[in-house]
Amino acid sequence: RAEQLHALIHESSVTLDGHQVELAANIGVPGDAVIGVAHGAEGVGLFRSEFLFMNRDSLPSEEEQFQAYQEAVQTLDGKPVIIRTMDIGGDKSLDYLQLPAELNPFLGYRAIRISLDREDMFKTQLRAILRASHYGRVKVMYPMIATRDEVVAANEVLEAAKQELRSEGIPFDEDMEVGIMVEIPAAAIAADQLAEVVDFFSIGTNDLIQYTMACDRMNEKVSYLYQPYHPSILRLVKMVIDAAHQHGKWAGMCGEMAGDLNIVPVLVGLGIDELSMSPPSILPVREQIRQSRFEDLQELAAEALRQSTSDAVKNLVVQATD
Ligand code: PEP
Ligand code: MG
Repeated sequence: RAEQLHALIHESSVTLDGHQVELAANIGVPGDAVIGVAHGAEGVGLFRSEFLFMNRDSLPSEEEQFQAYQEAVQTLDGKPVIIRTMDIGGDKSLDYLQLPAELNPFLGYRAIRISLDREDMFKTQLRAILRASHYGRVKVMYPMIATRDEVVAANEVLEAAKQELRSEGIPFDEDMEVGIMVEIPAAAIAADQLAEVVDFFSIGTNDLIQYTMACDRMNEKVSYLYQPYHPSILRLVKMVIDAAHQHGKWAGMCGEMAGDLNIVPVLVGLGIDELSMSPPSILPVREQIRQSRFEDLQELAAEALRQSTSDAVKNLVVQATD
């Protein structure tokens, strides 16, 4: 069985009738990139850069960040690496930033909200990412986007970083793609308008489910509401994919749901272009895709969208994969 899976390491993730999806790895530290490649990743779909900022007592310098990003980029050897700008706040605190205690940290000062407020810090990170883009195929992704204004503001800082590098004669990829995480319901609902100002979406279901269901992803008392297969979630996912495609952009997913063998057939049927997951999930998902027909998955997705409860969706998909 393990050998059977291993044989798929260099194969593409394509259905029997020729529909292709990209399977990528989620990584935390640059060294994880090696694990992703060993599991057949076609790219890195989520580099959680905040790990470079944690477990230390000061901000990482531009040079330190550049080296970490460059390491991952070189390991991927020309395959795409999506670097998410730091997602601090919520449950991830940094003592040296002296973030104020908050009543609702998950609704508070976190991720892009901190980056746009601390422009010096943000520009340093963007410079490091841009510099790494010269060594492979880098894409940058902003976390926790709620509004189009935030994207525009972040892109202004990105443009300033590019200007600086140009004037310093430091090379970078002028065509680096810029995308956002769709993990706040507002972004999913207005995805058609956001699609006008980004190159891609990556759906962050871990947070999207928490915010859609108003259910803390860490609180066991309400975990019964944390329902990845809930009709509201499937509808939002469909809206995001459709909005992207209508604007000639692509849509991926990097939450835990992306590696869930039960729901992957539905996601592929909805037209997801890329799935990014923890490395050990990649080959099983690839095997499953290679054994399916896209036409069948499209029908399954349509059927899933007609269900009104998570359990009904679960029954449907479990039957379909039997
Ligand atoms: C998500 O929210 O789905 C996600 C991938 O980001 P994180 O788990 O790092 O919040
Ligand atoms: Mg998230």
